[in-house]
Amino acid sequence: MPKRMTGILEERRRKKAQKSADGPLNPIAETDFVRRVELLDSFERAGLGWFWASDALGRLIYLSETAIARLGIERDKVLGKPVGDLFRTRADEGTGEPERPLRFLLGARNSISQLCVKVSSGKSEYWWEIAGKPQFDKFGVFTGYRGSAKDVTATLEDQRDAERLSQFDALTGLANRHRMARTLTKTLTHYRNSKRSCALLMLDLDRFKQVNDTLGHPAGDDLLKQVAARLQRIIGDQGEIARLGGDEFQIMLPDFDDRGVLGDLGQRMIQIVSQPYSLNGSRATIGSSLGIAIAPYDGIEAEDLVNAADLALYAAKGSGRGKYRFFSSDLKDKSRRRAQVESDLGDALANEELEMHFQPIVDAETHKVKCLEALIRWRHPEKGWIPPGEFIPIAEEVGMIKKIGAWALRKTCEDAATWPVELRVAVNVSAVQFEDDSFPNIVQQAIEYSGINPARVELEITESIFVGDYGRSKAIFARLRKLGVRLALDDFGTGYSSLSYLRDAPFDKIKIDQSFVRGCTEPGNNNKAIISSIVSLAGALQMETVAEGVETRDELALVKELGAGSLQGLIFSPAVPNDELLERLDAGKLVYDPSGPPRYRAERRKEFRRVGLIHGDHRYNVTLRNLSKTGAMIEGLLNVPVGTDVVLDLGGGQLAVAAVRRSEGASQGLRFETRLIDDGDGGLCTRHRVSPYQIEAAGRPLTALGEDAFAVLHASGGAPAKARQFIEIDMNSVQSRVA
Ligand code: C2E
Ligand code: MG
Ligand code: MG
Repeated sequence: MPKRMTGILEERRRKKAQKSADGPLNPIAETDFVRRVELLDSFERAGLGWFWASDALGRLIYLSETAIARLGIERDKVLGKPVGDLFRTRADEGTGEPERPLRFLLGARNSISQLCVKVSSGKSEYWWEIAGKPQFDKFGVFTGYRGSAKDVTATLEDQRDAERLSQFDALTGLANRHRMARTLTKTLTHYRNSKRSCALLMLDLDRFKQVNDTLGHPAGDDLLKQVAARLQRIIGDQGEIARLGGDEFQIMLPDFDDRGVLGDLGQRMIQIVSQPYSLNGSRATIGSSLGIAIAPYDGIEAEDLVNAADLALYAAKGSGRGKYRFFSSDLKDKSRRRAQVESDLGDALANEELEMHFQPIVDAETHKVKCLEALIRWRHPEKGWIPPGEFIPIAEEVGMIKKIGAWALRKTCEDAATWPVELRVAVNVSAVQFEDDSFPNIVQQAIEYSGINPARVELEITESIFVGDYGRSKAIFARLRKLGVRLALDDFGTGYSSLSYLRDAPFDKIKIDQSFVRGCTEPGNNNKAIISSIVSLAGALQMETVAEGVETRDELALVKELGAGSLQGLIFSPAVPNDELLERLDAGKLVYDPSGPPRYRAERRKEFRRVGLIHGDHRYNVTLRNLSKTGAMIEGLLNVPVGTDVVLDLGGGQLAVAAVRRSEGASQGLRFETRLIDDGDGGLCTRHRVSPYQIEAAGRPLTALGEDAFAVLHASGGAPAKARQFIEIDMNSVQSRVA
C-alpha cells in the first residue's frame, strides 16, 4: 500500500480508537472502511484509475504510485509542485480552446470533472482525464483538492487519427468531401452575414480512367497525387482544395467573384493539369474540365452552390472537354430536359418508340447505292423526334447503350435480311458497347437470328475506342473479323490525334467526318487539304473512303475530285424508314440523283437575342444583333442620340454600362465601359453581376440570380417609372411585314 494511503488509514484508526474509548466500537463500520481502502488501493495499483490530492496552497501532496511510475519521474519532482504546473489544459497550452486554464478553475475552487489535461514527463507527453473536488474543514476553510485521474492518451490518439482520416484524403492529403462540405457550409453561412462572395470550382479529369486501366492503379494513384500537388501550387493559400473521390476535385475560393479573374485562373488550372506526367517511367497526358459557380449569385446554400458548379462542370464536359464553364441559370433547364430524356429513355424500348432508319451511301461515280447506314430514331410520345445526338450520349452514360445497341443491331439485321437486293448495311457501335467482352457474341446472335450474310454487315466504330486498352480492342477486332463482318472507322479526324493505330487496326473503310466536308469549297479553309490527305492515307492502307454529309453541288464536285470512293449526305437522301426504303428497292431504283443547293452558304450563325436596355428608369426590349468584348449592336429603339449612356441587361444579372457610339434609325452601336470576358463556352459574359445582396437590400428575399435578376431589382426599387424617352419598335413584326 502506498505510504500516503497507509498514513491516512492509520490516522483514521487512531481517531476511531479514540472514539471507541468514548463508546462501543462499531465492528461492521470498521471492516467496511478497511475494505474500501483496500479496494481503492487495488484499483490504483491495477492502473484503472489514480488519485491525486492537493493542499490549500495548490501543491500536489498525493499522486498514486502507479501514476508516478507511468510518468517515469521521481516522486520528489512531482509532489510539492503546483498542480497547475503538472496538469496543463489546452487553454494553458494557448491553443485557443474555449476551456479555462486549470489555475483559474482551481483558484475559483470549482469542482472539475472530465477535464482533459496534458501531463509531460520531460520525455513523453500523456493525456489524462482528471476530476477533483475542493475540500473544506469543519470551519469551512479550504484545505485542498481530492481527485482522480485516468490515462486517455491512447483513446485520444485513436480519436485524432479517426478524425484526420475522416477529414482528409489519405492519398493526396487534401481535404476530403466531408471536410469540404463542412468548411463550405460554415464559410457560406458566415459570409451571408458579412455579405461576402465565395467561388466554388469543380474539376474533373478527362481520360483518367484510361491511365488507370492501361498503366495500373499505382500509376493512377501517383497521377492523382501529382495533380493535387499542381493544384496546390496554383491555388496556394487563396483557398481550400479537396478531393471528393475518384478524379474529382473541388476548390473553394473565398472572396472571389470577378469572373474575369476566375476565368483566367480556371484556364491556367486546365493548362497546368494538362501538362504531361511522368508515371513510373511512362509518360501520360490527361485533360481536365472545370465548372465554376459563385455564391451568392449562383447559389446561397452550400448544396445549391455545389449543384451549380456540378452543372457547370457537366456543361464544360459536354462542350468538348478541356474547358471551363461558368454556371448560368439556363443550364438548369438543360439539365431538366436531360433528366427527363434519361428517365423516359428507360421506357422507349419497351414502348417500341425506337425505330431504325436508313441512309444510302452511294458510289461516287455511278451514284448507285452500295450500303445503307442504319440510324436510330426515337419518336417520343410528347416531345416528338429526339435526335440520337441527344439521347445516345445519355444512354452511354447511364449504361443503357448496351441494351439499345443490341436492339439496334438485331433490328437492323432483321430489316436488312428482308431487302430484295443484297446491299450492305452499316450499324453504328458506341465505344461503350465495343468495350464489352460480350459484344462479338451480340453481333453473332443478331446475325444468326436474322439469317443475314455476315459479309453484308458493317460496324461503324469511332476513334474513341483507341483511348482505352488497346490490347483488348485488338482481341475484340479479331473476334469480329472471325465472324466475317466488316469494320468502318466513323467520324475520322474528329477525335484521337494519333494515326499510329491505323497501322494495325483492320478497317475496311474510313468515313471522312462531315465537318471536313462542310464548307470545304470555301476559300481559305484547309478542309480540302485534309480530305485529300485522308483519301491518300486510306488509299495507301487499302481502305475505302466515304465522304459524309455532302449537301451541296459544289461539295459533291469537290469530294469526287479529291477521290472519295463513296458518298453520303442529304444531297442524295436523308435517312428514311424501312418501308420507304423497301418501296424504292422493290422498284429497283438503286441510283440516287443528287439534288441540293449549288453551293454552301455559311449561315450567319449569330443568335439574335432579346435583351434589355435600361435608360433613365425605363427598361426597353431590344434585339442584340452583334456582341463583342468591347461593344454591341442593338436594334429596336428609334433615334437614340449618339452619346446617350445606357445599361445593357444581358440577362442573369449581367449589366453592361455602355454609351451609344453610332445611331441610325432603329439600330445603334454601343461601346462598353468595361470589356466583356470569355464565358469559357465561346460566348461572352460580364465580369460582375447584380449582387443578390443588393436585391435583398431592396427588400426581397436573398436568392440566387435568375434570368430576370435585374427586373426583380428594378421592380423592388419602387422608383416611379419615368416616361420612356425612346420609341420601341418590334423588329420581328417589321421584318414580317416587309417580307
Ligand atoms: P454518324 O454515325 O456520323 O451519322 C451520320 C449523321 O449525319 C446522322 O445523324 C445523319 O443523319 C447525318 N447526316 C447525314 N447526311 C447529312 C448531311 O448531308 N448533312 C447533315 N447536316 N447531316 C447529315 P443522326 O442520325 O442524327 O446521328 C447522329 C449520330 O448518332 C451518328 O453519327 C451516330 O454517331 C449516332 N447514332 C445514330 N444511330 C446510332 C445507333 O444505332 N447506335 C449508336 N451507338 N449510335 C448511333
Ligand atoms: Mg455512322
Ligand atoms: Mg459519322
